[in-house]
Amino acid sequence: MNDRQPVLSRVENRQNNPLIVRQNVLNCEVSRLTENSLETVASGLIRLSGEDRVRRNVDMKPYTTMRVGGTVSVFVEISGALELSAILRFLHGEGVPHAVIGNGSNLIVADEGYEGVLLHLSSGLSRVTVLPDGLEAEAGALLSGVSRVAWENSFAGLEFASGIPGSLGGAVAMNAGAYGREIKDVVVTTTCLDAKGETIVLKGLEHDFGYRHSRVQTEGLVAVSARLRLQQGDPDAIRAEMRELAGRRADKQPLHLPSSGSTFKRPVGYFSGKLIEDCGLKGLRVGGAQVSEKHAGFVVNTGGATAEDVVNLVGLIRETVRRETGVTLEPEVKLLKGDSLCSF
Ligand SMILES: Cc1cc2nc3c(=O)[nH]c(=O)nc-3n(C[C@H](O)[C@H](O)[C@H](O)COP(=O)(O)OP(=O)(O)OC[C@H]3O[C@@H](n4cnc5c(N)ncnc54)[C@H](O)[C@@H]3O)c2cc1C
Repeated sequence: MNDRQPVLSRVENRQNNPLIVRQNVLNCEVSRLTENSLETVASGLIRLSGEDRVRRNVDMKPYTTMRVGGTVSVFVEISGALELSAILRFLHGEGVPHAVIGNGSNLIVADEGYEGVLLHLSSGLSRVTVLPDGLEAEAGALLSGVSRVAWENSFAGLEFASGIPGSLGGAVAMNAGAYGREIKDVVVTTTCLDAKGETIVLKGLEHDFGYRHSRVQTEGLVAVSARLRLQQGDPDAIRAEMRELAGRRADKQPLHLPSSGSTFKRPVGYFSGKLIEDCGLKGLRVGGAQVSEKHAGFVVNTGGATAEDVVNLVGLIRETVRRETGVTLEPEVKLLKGDSLCSF
């Protein structure tokens, strides 16, 4: 893979694996896994997960809601917490770059791909258990499904999350929120795995939740499950609120086109969509990527967009808004590129 790229240096570990080299590509230092090392890693993962759950060179478009991007070197469909722990231990020992994806609603992969192992937490890790005071849900469960279980069991508190198209793990990592509420308002504990596959249980303030921020995200932990404390409520009222919020989303957001939701974090004292609209950028296009005509805070894929189109449009928006208003917009969406989660 990428034999044409100049090899600048070999490194220890990424650590001990002599088949991994480090290179400088467009000012972003990345590891390059050779074909041999990828085969070795894939074989090790097949031993841990089974042949049907480990795939090579997987196109990521169907796994992200923006429907853009390239391939990942190795893709693993996770089927349980113990398996995930063993995989993390193995990858740590081999020094192989890896990342986690839930529902891919806040993540895109660069067109040149991600050179590492991507762990997909989805239906294989999606059990939801009803407790007397709330729910315990695995990280791959979708927020829509967790909210539905809450409603079916007369639990109020998750209505705000029912229309967010992410997994619970992604929501905890991002501290997802809407309509004045955030996932931090209901999460009591999160069971995580660290880079060595060891279990860490975060309680309350230990999550270090902030606006679209959490310790899970900053420390690169993998959320496996979370306990949510909810209040008893009237199921009809819960259902009515979920419907009302879904209606507000459909009215305001370009749900008919692929996107990653709000492209930027909300800057203190402003709304990113209004800033972008006031700069006259609504409808601006780069290739197939466009500033939504319906909601300027969303970059949408109008068909055939590449990840590069999205990245270039995001750059253009940021540059224009900074020049015109002095406000620096911070992308909320994550980009997997080279061997790491890079910023736009
Ligand atoms: C139409 C639309 C509307 C949206 N509306 C909202 C909204 O109202 N509010 C809001 O906050 N967001 C919104 N989003 C963004 C997105 O849905 C949320 O950020 C969601 O929580 C991401 O979850 P995910 O499973 O898709 O994460 P992914 O996109 O798969 O990943 C996002 C980040 O979380 C990490 N991650 C994922 N799973 C785990 C895990 N188990 N453990 C550790 N890290 C993990 C990934 O590595 C990545 O860094 C919207 C997106 C779309 C497309």
